[in-house]
Amino acid sequence: MSALILDGKALAKSREQQLHAAVKKFQDEGGLQPVLATILVGDDPSSATYVQMKVNACARVGMGSRFISLPASTTTDELLEKIDQLNNDAEVCGILLQHPVPEQIDERACFDAIAIEKDVDGVTTQGFGLMAMGEPAFGSATPAGIMTLLKHYDIALSGKHAVVLGRSPILGKPMAAMLLNANATVTICHSRTENLAALVAQADIVVGAVGQPELIKAEWIKDGAVVVDAGYHAGGVGDIEKTGLQARVAALTPVPGGVGPMTINALISHTLESAQRLELSSAQHSVIE
Ligand code: NAP
Repeated sequence: MSALILDGKALAKSREQQLHAAVKKFQDEGGLQPVLATILVGDDPSSATYVQMKVNACARVGMGSRFISLPASTTTDELLEKIDQLNNDAEVCGILLQHPVPEQIDERACFDAIAIEKDVDGVTTQGFGLMAMGEPAFGSATPAGIMTLLKHYDIALSGKHAVVLGRSPILGKPMAAMLLNANATVTICHSRTENLAALVAQADIVVGAVGQPELIKAEWIKDGAVVVDAGYHAGGVGDIEKTGLQARVAALTPVPGGVGPMTINALISHTLESAQRLELSSAQHSVIE
């Protein structure tokens, strides 16, 4: 067996072409250019790179972006004020607050201050709740991108045992909820989980989201599994060790070029969708007024 490569880079590229056409159509029909506001607090180089990649992706599909850089000393109140301004800015249809923020900031309060209709990164408690209930909401961008990737490659999820390693609010938890909504049987593992290897060995689908290089060992993973690795670390390794996997699993995401491009693609897709919905609701208002 040679594993099917779940090529997020190629899929994101082709979806960007479709998005570019959709953005143009939206504007040709009188819509304003969709604008994503990105907020970076502090000067962490990795976070700055991630934000720049999102800004670049907006430009590639013809969307606008507004980059807001705040000093590392920013307080929760100052960040809340900025988010409030963006919530009330009619030109902005999506808000991304780059995670993590400096530790003096109440990140949860700031995420939850993002207006639900502009929560294109799927970070609010309300958005998570709606998504988990199967109601309309923008799902968290990384797991939403993973779901798009799995769907594109016709990976069967219904009835399969998915083991998600990691339970963060932006990745592990929403990933588990999305897989559950797709009728997978889901096990969530975290740092207190006992017998990690034995649980991973049961998985038809393994999602690695632990934030530690190659913590998940190749030998734990059964033959024929689908392997999704959200991690990316120095040296080009992910959260899952890949030694020998290509020859015996059914499918796997490359690192890099798997999950990362799909995260950005989910974010910009959500931003266009938000623009379309906001345009619709302002058109509805003008009919009513
Ligand atoms: P995070 O907030 O640090 O969460 C890590 C999770 O892993 C936690 O739930 C933690 O458990 C669990 N964990 C840590 N050590 C473990 C261990 N020894 N055994 C089992 N579970 C363990 O990280 P995150 O933000 O979710 O990110 C996870 C990974 O995805 C990272 O590699 C990150 O770089 C990557 N990521 C990629 C993208 C992308 O676009 N490609 C986006 C976001 C994140 P506890 O809850 O018990 O602490």
